[in-house]
Amino acid sequence: MVSERPGSRTASAYRLLPSVDELLAAPALVDLAARTSRALLLELARGALERWREAIAGGALEAGELEGRLAAGELVAEIAEAAGVDARRGVRPAVNATGIVLHTGLGRAPWHPEAARAAAEVGERFCLLEVDRETGQRNRRDDRTSELVRRLTGAEAAIAVNNNAAAVLLVLNTFGRDREVVVSRGELVEIGGSFRIPDVMERAGARLREVGTTNRTRAADYRGAVGPDTGLLMKVHTSNFRVEGFTEEVGPAELGALGRELGVPTAFDLGSGLYAGPGGHLPAGLGPEPRVEDALASGVDVVLFSGDKLFGGPQAGLLLGTAETVRALRANPLYRALRLDKTTLCALERTLELFLAGRADELPARRALARDPAELAAEAAALARALDALPGLRATTEPGESQPGSGSAPGVTLPTTLVRTTADALRPERLAHLLRRADPAVFARVKDDAVWLDPRTLLPGEAEHVVAAYRAAVEAPPGAARGAR
Ligand SMILES: *Cc1c(COP(=O)(O)O)cnc(C)c1O
Repeated sequence: MVSERPGSRTASAYRLLPSVDELLAAPALVDLAARTSRALLLELARGALERWREAIAGGALEAGELEGRLAAGELVAEIAEAAGVDARRGVRPAVNATGIVLHTGLGRAPWHPEAARAAAEVGERFCLLEVDRETGQRNRRDDRTSELVRRLTGAEAAIAVNNNAAAVLLVLNTFGRDREVVVSRGELVEIGGSFRIPDVMERAGARLREVGTTNRTRAADYRGAVGPDTGLLMKVHTSNFRVEGFTEEVGPAELGALGRELGVPTAFDLGSGLYAGPGGHLPAGLGPEPRVEDALASGVDVVLFSGDKLFGGPQAGLLLGTAETVRALRANPLYRALRLDKTTLCALERTLELFLAGRADELPARRALARDPAELAAEAAALARALDALPGLRATTEPGESQPGSGSAPGVTLPTTLVRTTADALRPERLAHLLRRADPAVFARVKDDAVWLDPRTLLPGEAEHVVAAYRAAVEAPPGAARGAR
């Protein structure tokens, strides 16, 4: 018997595959295209056909099996599944069960519900952004922010930009462009991967003048570096690491005094923006984080920090300082490129008003940081009971630690009670994947062959979502997560 020529079997398998147009004419996909987009389905159909062709080429799929799988609608199902995955991508709500309070991947500080509602309303309507309702005249979009910050902190003026990275850029460019900026060698930090102070300085057009050593810098070092070219003396909080042992740094008060004496502007990048506010309580146990109050009292010309780290507000970079400094920052043409949009500004204003009303402790991130360990233990126990009652799932509690996150308070952990979960029929990674596919997505920690939940970062009412996501995961048919990225 003559054997078949190599390739002829695969050639006949290829011929069984539909064309993209034939495939997209399947009723289920016509329907999907109408609800999503034809461009998406075209992309997914091409991708699926490519994968099936590769399976044929690799010898993993021969004509007989292919015919059966096509008849069973598997190719169409694969595309519909991928369309479902696509529809859940992008910026969408998530439940943070990681215990990392300021989780950059999960959007750092959640907005206060009142701030979020106010922002949503100005989003869908016209709003008073750069016009004064009393005079009808043009004003500046962050006049109100500046006013609220002044009332709140006593700073002469303030300006808000996109984030603290933008604030650093604006300060360096305003005071350091074509001039020297003096910074302690121990403070030339990298924040979050790609944000290095020396690199930003270069992009801002400033020349870096490093002083001191990694572990010790004295006022005399700054003084010795100041000359006719000096534009700024800058202090940067080493947010995500701590140098221990034989160290010495120049405090903001000393730096401020030196700047005034020598007639050079001074800036202090605080990073996290730990701020109590009137009647507010600072979450205990955050270690020696610099406080906004102290930084302002120190007399540096401008203090800058993130809106969405320990401050607990929306993503923003807040610059607080003397009227003269803020005027110079605002006059920089770069400000236009770094300014906030109406929704974030609105959320920031409402957040500042909450501070002024003595309601700062209600801000979700601050509430999470300040949670009572006994209450967390009780919530963990209740959550473990509800989860343990699900078929095929085991849940127990164990003492553990939460993290402030976002490089705030490095090395600091907060005591909590964790829920340890394992599913009889699912590997922990697979269980975590199914939880992330829930709506809203549930993010947990995977460690030591289990999925761990920390009640500290759950917002009111979210424990029910977690239970529902677990129920769906343990009841999901095998292979339900196939095709997910
Ligand atoms: C986090 C941080 C920044 C960057 O702030 P973003 O708000 O993330 O842009 C800059 N400087 C310091 C010291 C920080 O800790």
